[in-house]
Amino acid sequence: MIYTCYDMIRDCREGKREGWAYFVSRYVPVLGWLIGHYFPSRKNDAALVERILVSLRASTASLFDSFDPAPERHFLLALRARVLGEAERDRGTPPAECPLDLETLAEALAPLTLTEKQAVWLETMSYDEQPTSRMLKMAPDTAVRARERAAEMLRVKMSSWRRSVVADNGAVLIGEALKARTADCLPAKAFLDIIDGRATWSNRGQMERHVNSCWHCIDHFCRLREASVLRDLPNQLSEAEADPYLKLLGIEPEPRAFWKKLRGK
Ligand SMILES: [Zn+2]
Repeated sequence: MIYTCYDMIRDCREGKREGWAYFVSRYVPVLGWLIGHYFPSRKNDAALVERILVSLRASTASLFDSFDPAPERHFLLALRARVLGEAERDRGTPPAECPLDLETLAEALAPLTLTEKQAVWLETMSYDEQPTSRMLKMAPDTAVRARERAAEMLRVKMSSWRRSVVADNGAVLIGEALKARTADCLPAKAFLDIIDGRATWSNRGQMERHVNSCWHCIDHFCRLREASVLRDLPNQLSEAEADPYLKLLGIEPEPRAFWKKLRGK
């Protein structure tokens, strides 16, 4: 039987080494990818990856507590939050030259459609128009136009403005959106149903109306879109590549049979 994310979450909760071996093999590449994407200047900083791994092992709070409805994407959301938080603690990002808060952004961009708002929000998450248009299943030109419209709406609203103001303030905006949760906010399942094509907004007018004016939900929606991409990253460390990380975390090497199970062979 193939070892899955479910098994990993259960085993890590129970402190079993199999869980950590799977974690290292499957998610160290994701961790490296996240660092490269969100902190490009630290892309090949192997020591940073090691420090983050050690801190994840030392405190697993919020990391292995998700099971439903899509364990791997929930886990990826938790992993992303921890990795970005640890990297920020390791070395803080300096504040942007033109500060932009969520309230100003929300006011300025209120007239945009929900899809346009996501195209803008993915800019706070450092995605340029190619990956953005893939995540939103739109033409790259549409993403560019949405961002240009948003840039103009912000420019007239802000006393000091530059074209990259949304991306420059990404960390602050994302932090504020996370805290903006309301009682009406939608569960992950509602967004996953749309991302996976099991549902559309058309018969859920009320839900769409909420999300369209709630940047907490827009951020959640975008993070789940990102998790769907992270889940499909092809990398997986081999036994030899995983070994030094397991040593670093003080985890006994796994017998060969475990690695065979991991590969489903
Ligand atoms: Zn909401």
